[in-house]
Amino acid sequence: MSKYMQSRFASLEAYVPGEQPQDKKYIKLNTNESPYPPSPGVLAAVNAGEAAKLRLYPDPECKVLTKKLAALLDVEPENVFITNGSDDSLNFAFMAFAGPETPAVFADITYGFYKVFAQLHGIPARVIPLKPDFTLDPADYYNAGGMVVIANPNAPTGLPRTRNELEEVIRRNPDHVVVVDEAYVDFGGESCIPLTKKYDNLLVVQTFSKSRCLAGGRLGFAVGHKDLIADLTKLKYSTNPYCINRLTLVAGEAAVDENEYYMDHCREIMDTRKATTDALRGLGFEVLPSAANFIFARPPKMSGEALYLALKDRGVLVRYFSAPRTCEYVRITIGTPAEMAVLVQAVREICG
Ligand SMILES: *Cc1c(COP(=O)(O)O)cnc(C)c1O
Repeated sequence: MSKYMQSRFASLEAYVPGEQPQDKKYIKLNTNESPYPPSPGVLAAVNAGEAAKLRLYPDPECKVLTKKLAALLDVEPENVFITNGSDDSLNFAFMAFAGPETPAVFADITYGFYKVFAQLHGIPARVIPLKPDFTLDPADYYNAGGMVVIANPNAPTGLPRTRNELEEVIRRNPDHVVVVDEAYVDFGGESCIPLTKKYDNLLVVQTFSKSRCLAGGRLGFAVGHKDLIADLTKLKYSTNPYCINRLTLVAGEAAVDENEYYMDHCREIMDTRKATTDALRGLGFEVLPSAANFIFARPPKMSGEALYLALKDRGVLVRYFSAPRTCEYVRITIGTPAEMAVLVQAVREICG
């Protein structure tokens, strides 16, 4: 830390992204990216003609994409907020709806960025442990006394809650915003977006990074009551109004037009998830029943770290979390059937 860095950031622990080693070619199953390319319309939209327009600023209102997304999600454009990745939507939500007097309330085992955003903005965190079987008890979040943040399905467990269960959380926190992070909802979860018509304290956050094969494009969005969206827009326009670049905007528009392509690939990933889960269980693993594009798995006779290292040695990258409750597990992103066959064979060699 330089002598100029302000002391309030001295204890800030930044988010640690999944590694991207360059020493050899890996099968990358560690950051929940899609193994499939963006749809044909996206590849066609990001062309030389669009690149030539890069001298111009992008549309700060993202009007075309907002309208297309609103139609797809059956809401109004005034209910949609578009950001540079969904991390940005989450960051603005923490800034807008939590603060020194309004804690952020989230699970002990969930997306690691929530803790970082809380620290960054001087927001006290009320951390609620998941149950011993890693499920989240909705009742733990009734009258939570702050902004509730729930990843559904949760990461890195992949475990989902139903819309009805989350509705009860939303209903029982009338004085605070409930953020439902649906980064993985397209892989078998139940979206809370329909509830945004009924509750003015619900903000649903989704991303193009996972189910829409666009992690490198950096595109995310939030859906909620128009007043919440106006609050978030005020903060976006107070930082970087042009935060979605032109190429990503046209890519996102094409991706929404080709929704079926993405939903087909989600179904494929769900099939591969089932096959991989069955294979690992056959090798003695405990695998949580996932509704996401990854599985959280505990090897029979070694630590999560030992398996992670042995797989890396064999050119397969998975994610390992060293915290006490998670260190026996690894999180494995679902790739193509061929990639998962390599993973399973490597696991068989390591554990056999
Ligand atoms: C991947 C992920 C995000 C953020 O992804 P972006 O690439 O910033 O859109 C948000 N929440 C969870 C739970 C995630 O796993």
